[in-house]
Formats: sequence, structure tokens, C-alpha cells
Amino acid sequence: MEIIRIPRIMQDIARTHTMHNKLIGFVPTMGALHEGHLSLVRMAREENEITIVSIYVNPRQFGPTEDLSRYPRDFEGDAERLTGEGIDILFLPVDSLMYPGGFSTSVEVEGLSKKLCGAYRHGHFSGVATVVTKLFNLVRPARAYFGQKDFQQTVIIKRMVKDLDMGIDIVVCPTIREEDGLAMSSRNLYLTKEQRTAALIIHRCLNEASEAIQSGIIKVKELKKLMENRLGSEPLVSEIQYCSAYDPDTLDELEEINKETLLAIALKIGETRLIDNILVAAG
Ligand code: AMP
Repeated sequence: MEIIRIPRIMQDIARTHTMHNKLIGFVPTMGALHEGHLSLVRMAREENEITIVSIYVNPRQFGPTEDLSRYPRDFEGDAERLTGEGIDILFLPVDSLMYPGGFSTSVEVEGLSKKLCGAYRHGHFSGVATVVTKLFNLVRPARAYFGQKDFQQTVIIKRMVKDLDMGIDIVVCPTIREEDGLAMSSRNLYLTKEQRTAALIIHRCLNEASEAIQSGIIKVKELKKLMENRLGSEPLVSEIQYCSAYDPDTLDELEEINKETLLAIALKIGETRLIDNILVAAG
């Protein structure tokens, strides 16, 4: 596994591979890698000739009061895990070379970026779209792999790739969970033992809402009440940001469930913000 830190060198290497018609599979991450990330890496390895993983804690996608400075970092562990997966290149771009003085461009996917998480994390998706565009230009992938765990991110990236004719296949991989159902996330490391147990309410609530749909509830008002009550019953939940049923294409909240539906939750346990979602068929 080669480690590249200089963006221009990354681009030269990627260009050489694409000139030789090698298909590059790319997995962008912020590190502190877990089985969720590794499932994306394995999929990329299976489907492409060259696999490139980036680790970059992108400052532009964190708000001023968010957790940039304490975001978990484990370079040695990550490098060891990725060596074990047999990837070709680990790209660890240097901050000052990603956003040198004078940098003044941002990519905005209008509309979609303001919904769900975007309503609580101002500028977040613009930061994501900008860095992903830069990474795509440096890594030149044929396919890029993202997790369903960050569902809104996948919708936004797909929209951006289509709108800007980037010609990259966006592959969405299933959410990997702990045995007890908690969606794996680097931010789970922030949770105390009690908070970790309380966080199980998220997945349980999604499953119960799914069962309610299968048993005939179609009014979203009714479903949302059910979800709010369930989440509200957990005393360690400090804030419910959203929980409801949404159109998986537009991310708009539905009134009635009569097609495939995204059930999504964002909440805080203490200071830790957690998200999760599932897709369900109409009942
Ligand atoms: P992050 O390092 O949190 O930016 O995540 C990098 C990629 O891994 C994103 O595409 C995430 O959606 C994906 N990912 C994170 N957690 C999971 C998970 N539990 N299952 C599947 N993919 C995940």
C-alpha cells in the first residue's frame, strides 16, 4: 500500500492509471475506520482494478461549534487495517495543500442540502460537496463508494455528479451495524457505556416504525408521534432533531406512506449527535 500526501502527486498517479485504462474504485473517509468503512473498501476492491481510500478530516464540513478538534483520529490503526484489506493507495492529503491561501470556491447542491441534517448543520453539505469534488478530481475514480448510513449525503453526491457531468458511478453500500443494532459510526467512540446503551433506542425506533407501517399505519402524522414518543421515553436523549418518514429521492417529509419510504432519525445523546435510517416498502 502506497501512502500519498501531496494532492498533485495523487493526481499524477491517478492520471497514469486511467491512461492505462485501469478502473479506479474510491472510498472517501474521515478515518477512525470501523467495519462500516471496511465494507465499502471490500466492495471497491471487488469491483475495480485499483482501490484508493482517502482519510481526510475536512474542516469545511464542520460548523464552528462542532467536533472538528476532537474528531477521533487513529492513523496507525487505520493504516494497519487498510494494509490488511490489500488496497493500493492510501491518500492522506495535507490540509494546507487542500485549501491553500486564496481558496475561494464552494460547491452547493441547492435544496437537498438544506433539508434534514442540513437544517441543523449549516454549510455542512457545501463542505462535503466541495471536498468530494476536489477528491474526485485528484483520484479520478470510475466508481466511488458511500454508506447508506449517511443517506442524505448519498442523495446529494448523486445529484452533484449528475448535474456536473462527473461521469462517476456512485455505489451506495448497506449500513453496517453492531450486533445489537447500533449503526457503526466513528462518533460512537464519544459515548459512555450508559449512553451507548441508550443509543439503541434509535435502531429500535426505526424498526418499530417499520413494523407500524407494515401493520397498516399510513398517516405520517401518526407514525411521527409514535416515533417521537418512543425516542422521548429515553431520558439520555437530550435533543430530537428529526424523526419521520421521507421521500428517498427529494428528502421531503411525506404525508402518507404509499411508496418506498426513508425512515430517518437525528438526535443527540448528551453532546453526541447520532443519525440512522432505514428504507421500507409501503405496507
Ligand atoms: P466518514 O468517515 O464518517 O465520513 O464515513 C466515510 C464513509 O463511510 C461514508 O460514505 C459513510 O456513509 C460510510 N459509513 C460510515 N459508517 C458506516 C456504516 N455503519 N455502514 C456503512 N457505511 C458507513
